[in-house]
Amino acid sequence: MDSDISGFKRYVSTTCKVIKNKMSTYLELAVLSTKDLQRRIKKLSKRQRDYLFQGLVLSVLVLPMISIPFITGGAGARANTKTATGKSLSSISAKQRPTSGPSRGVVRTAVAPQQPAPVPPAPAPVPPPRDPNLPPVLTQNTQNINPVLLKRFDAFRTLIFQRYRVVLEIKSGWRSYQEQAQLYATLPRGRANPPGISQHEFGNAIDYTNFSPTYNQYLGQFGLKAPYRGKENWHIEIVEPH
Ligand SMILES: [Zn+2]
Repeated sequence: MDSDISGFKRYVSTTCKVIKNKMSTYLELAVLSTKDLQRRIKKLSKRQRDYLFQGLVLSVLVLPMISIPFITGGAGARANTKTATGKSLSSISAKQRPTSGPSRGVVRTAVAPQQPAPVPPAPAPVPPPRDPNLPPVLTQNTQNINPVLLKRFDAFRTLIFQRYRVVLEIKSGWRSYQEQAQLYATLPRGRANPPGISQHEFGNAIDYTNFSPTYNQYLGQFGLKAPYRGKENWHIEIVEPH
């Protein structure tokens, strides 16, 4: 037992000595290297020392200052993960962050998904269905026609539609002097009036489609007439009050 304890003590003291020697060696090396460094610095020119000083200042002061916003920015980005631009914006320090300008707009755009979704545009209003007892609205060749004639013709064609389910349209309404002249020159003699005297040129005549003598018997009810009977039965005009 005694020999075991003394052996252990010897082992501990030896280990301690080794550690002590090593520590002193490291200390000596540190002192030596510091002295060596001082010696080397003393050897440097003034310009070289300035560079060294600037380098030290840069690494000790400037680099931490630059890295601080990145560190805090990283935290900000983690806290604000929902904003797409959060990371880049919070990497700028609070003082540098602009209070107004396009970047603010970018933030708003990025936050937009949190706002209620935009209301889709309302569909175009569907026009009410037309009365099935009315013919389709007149759209063909209605320009420059005497409104009284147009109104009477529309009433006439509505009756024809209700009785016979036939739609009457305007085949020819108002004509310019040139159009009448061309028609006069093209059609056989007697089929069209010479230019200057046709009621079409004054908007006072309509040639209608789907002519039938049956339909013409209703013209009088609407203050209309077909003055060229036998020649141009579909040509109608207003009956002038006597
Ligand atoms: Zn005519």
